[in-house]
Amino acid sequence: MNKIITNNSDETKKLGLDFAGKLRAGDALLLYGDLGAGKTTFTQGLAEGLGIKDRILSPTFVLQRIHEINEGKIKKMNHIDLYRIEKPVEIGSLGLTETFEEKQSVAVVEWADRLKDFKPKRGYRIYFKYLTDVKREIEVEKL
Ligand code: ADP
Ligand code: MG
Repeated sequence: MNKIITNNSDETKKLGLDFAGKLRAGDALLLYGDLGAGKTTFTQGLAEGLGIKDRILSPTFVLQRIHEINEGKIKKMNHIDLYRIEKPVEIGSLGLTETFEEKQSVAVVEWADRLKDFKPKRGYRIYFKYLTDVKREIEVEKL
């Protein structure tokens, strides 16, 4: 999986859903892209694929939402949104060091460009680009 164009939000959700099958416990997913680029939409599909029943909202007003998973090897999805962080900060000052060390969880970070000097041990960077009102370009890079 490398560069993909989706033609509507359902296709982006489906991409997330399929991506869930590639994830391993301990992975971090760093999501990049502007407001409306599709990061949360992708995360909704991902959550569905991980067996999460909760509604996935953009955690814009809280730093992190935790979703427990009752099936499979991945026990939790930590959904982080750094939209309100104005300039890049270190994960330590956000109190997220332990979150990224959880071996049975996956961490999904929206606005990952606001993390300073951070490279997860394992995971993916995913870049979302707005093309038209309904088209997005999504590029996946394995770490
Ligand atoms: P972000 O989290 O990056 O700010 P969201 O996923 O919350 O973005 O919002 C994306 C918006 O764009 C939603 O309103 C969604 O319905 C719309 N949209 C239209 N086309 C697409 C597409 N191809 N992929 C994802 N979202 C799309
Ligand atoms: Mg979002």
